[in-house]
Amino acid sequence: MEVHNVELVMSAVDPKQYPTTGQPEIALVGRSNVGKSSLTNVLINRNSYARTSSQPGKTQTLNFYHVEDQLYFVDVPGYGYAKVSRTEREKWGQMIETYLTARETLRGVISLVDGRHAPTADDQSMYTWLSYYEIPTLVVATKMDKIPGAKWNKQLSLVKKTLQIRAEDDLLPFSAQTKAGKAEVWQWIEQHAFG
Ligand code: GDP
Repeated sequence: MEVHNVELVMSAVDPKQYPTTGQPEIALVGRSNVGKSSLTNVLINRNSYARTSSQPGKTQTLNFYHVEDQLYFVDVPGYGYAKVSRTEREKWGQMIETYLTARETLRGVISLVDGRHAPTADDQSMYTWLSYYEIPTLVVATKMDKIPGAKWNKQLSLVKKTLQIRAEDDLLPFSAQTKAGKAEVWQWIEQHAFG
């Protein structure tokens, strides 16, 4: 999809605040700093629309981006903040659990992992959780420009093996710097949002 028009429509904590158009939603999850804002900006052809690196301890909300008046990207706050309190973490957990398990318009989740390393314990928990609820998931390995092309396959295999990615889910390499993987990620999104 060639994106011209994006609008941040909603920062929601409560389900009552979610959009009501009934259009499909694709959620993006990942540890802070994994490259979620960068990926979002590449997908929507912006340099700095989605905020880069949200701050630990800030109010955590789901941000709904309305794309071409056709679908929503839902930015789920980054997990893995070491410093947030347990209460904060539980609040965060409840909010995303409610959203991811009960949202009828959710068509799929893009789960980002840093392509340079093996997925962390947090990444594994997130993927296991998404699998448990049978939510269609695309795992995106980010920052692949930092890895020599000859090592991509080995690194992708490591991600696949560590997360134990299900046959029905997908794994794609991505770089916000070179935009490698942009078309493939969009293809997955369109297939799941409208297919
Ligand atoms: P977020 O916290 O998940 O939204 O992560 P950001 O998109 O803000 O990215 C965190 C840091 O990683 C920033 O310094 C980005 O410039 C950098 N980064 C993100 N994606 C890439 C990428 O594909 N390649 C490289 N080399 N750096 C990236």
